[in-house]
Amino acid sequence: MRQNRENSSKALRIVIAGGGYAGLSALIILRKKLPDAQIVLIDPRDSHLLITRLHETVHGSLEDISIPYQDLARRFDFQHIRQALEIDMEKLQLWQKRRCIEVDRQQLDFDYLLLATGASVIDPVPTEGVIDLDELCRHPLSAKLEKIIADGDKEHRQINIIGAGPTGIQFAFAIEHILYTARTSFRITLSDAKDRLLEDFPAAMVGYVQKRLAEKNIQFLNSRFFVARQEEQIVLENRRSKQQQLLPDDLTLLLLGKKPEPLLHANTSGQVVLDGEALGNIFTAGDCSCYDELGSNRMTMQTALRKGKAAAKNILRAARVIRFCLPYMHQDKGYILHLGPADAVGWVGSSRHIISGMPACLAKEAIEMQYALLLEGVDSYVL
Ligand SMILES: Cc1cc2nc3c(=O)[nH]c(=O)nc-3n(C[C@H](O)[C@H](O)[C@H](O)COP(=O)(O)OP(=O)(O)OC[C@H]3O[C@@H](n4cnc5c(N)ncnc54)[C@H](O)[C@@H]3O)c2cc1C
Repeated sequence: MRQNRENSSKALRIVIAGGGYAGLSALIILRKKLPDAQIVLIDPRDSHLLITRLHETVHGSLEDISIPYQDLARRFDFQHIRQALEIDMEKLQLWQKRRCIEVDRQQLDFDYLLLATGASVIDPVPTEGVIDLDELCRHPLSAKLEKIIADGDKEHRQINIIGAGPTGIQFAFAIEHILYTARTSFRITLSDAKDRLLEDFPAAMVGYVQKRLAEKNIQFLNSRFFVARQEEQIVLENRRSKQQQLLPDDLTLLLLGKKPEPLLHANTSGQVVLDGEALGNIFTAGDCSCYDELGSNRMTMQTALRKGKAAAKNILRAARVIRFCLPYMHQDKGYILHLGPADAVGWVGSSRHIISGMPACLAKEAIEMQYALLLEGVDSYVL
C-alpha cells in the first residue's frame, strides 16, 4: 500500500485553474497528501485576493487583502502560470480524452484537472464613471474617497450604491464610517431592483440591517433599476411605475453580484458531468460549480472552501492515495455581514440564531482567522 501511495504521488500531475477560496483549499489539501506531485496553478491575477474583505479597501490598499501567488508557491511548492484558461464544453471533452490542456501556447499534461474559476461580475451596462466589482478588485476605493474628503467645499456629496446585496450593504456602511469620521457632508443612497432588502436572509437579520441603515441615514430605494449615467447624474427607473428618477453622482458603485459562466455541473465527487456522463479526470469546485445531488451550491466562501476540499479528497481517492471519502454534503453554518468597523449581524448554526454587534464582529474575525490558518497550512475545518 505504502509503495502504491509513493508511486502515485510521484507520478501525479495536477492542474488547478483558479486560485480563489476553492482552488487554494484544494491545492493545500493535495499538497499535504502528495508531497511529490507536480502542481500547477493557472490564474490571471498575480495575487490571491481575500475578496470577502474587499470593503476594507475603503481605508486601505488592495495589498492589505492580497497574498502574492509567488509567496504561496514557495509555501506550498507549486508553479503559477499567470493566464486565464478558456473553458467550453467542447474543450472539456477534448481535455478529458487527451489529459492535456494548452495554456500560453504550452501543452500541459495532467492526471487531474480542477476547474475553480469562480463567477463573473454582472455588469449589464458598462458605464463610464460608474465603478463595478471588477474595478474595485483592481483599484482600492480609498483613493476616490480621499479625493471626496479633500474637496471639502462641496455640500452634500451624493454616493450611490446600486445593488443592495451583502456586498452593497457592507460597502455602504464602510463608506459611511469613513466620510462621517472625516466630517464630510454626504448622503448615501442604496438601491435595488428587488422589492425587499436581503430577500434570502432571516427576517430578524434584515430588521437589524434596516434599523442600522435608518440610524446612519443611509437611504434605501427598492424596486429601482439602474438605467444610465449622464451629466454627473444617474438615472434610476421604478420597476413598477416606470417613473424615472435622477440622483446627483459624486461616486456610484454598481454591485449587482456575480454569475458563473460557464456553470459546470458535477456529481457528488466533484467530477464534471457533461451530457449525463462524468469526466473521470476533470473536477470542479467553488462558484463555477453546481454539485447536482447533495450539499450546498450557495455562492459563499464556506461552500467554495468545502467544495474545494471535497474535490481534493476525491482526486486523492481517484488516484488511490486514500481509500474512502464521504460524498459532498456540506450545508453552510452561517453568514455574517459587516456593518461598519464595530458592528455586524448574521446567523450562526441555524437561521433562527441571529447574532449582532461585538459577538458578530468577533465571529466574522474568527472566520477570517480560520482561513488565514489554512493558508499557513493548518486545516482546522472539521469536515
Ligand atoms: C465583494 C464580495 C464579498 C463577499 N463576502 C462574502 C462573505 O462575507 N462571506 C461569504 O461566505 N461569501 C462572500 N462572498 C462570496 C465568496 O467570496 C465567493 O463565494 C467565493 O469567493 C467563491 O470562491 P471561488 O474560489 O469559487 O471563486 P473566487 O474566489 O472568485 O476565485 C476565482 C479565481 O479564479 C480566477 N479565474 C477566473 N477566471 C479564470 C480563468 N478563466 N482561468 C483561470 N483562473 C481564473 C480568478 O482570478 C480568481 O482568483 C463575497 C463575494 C464578493 C464578490
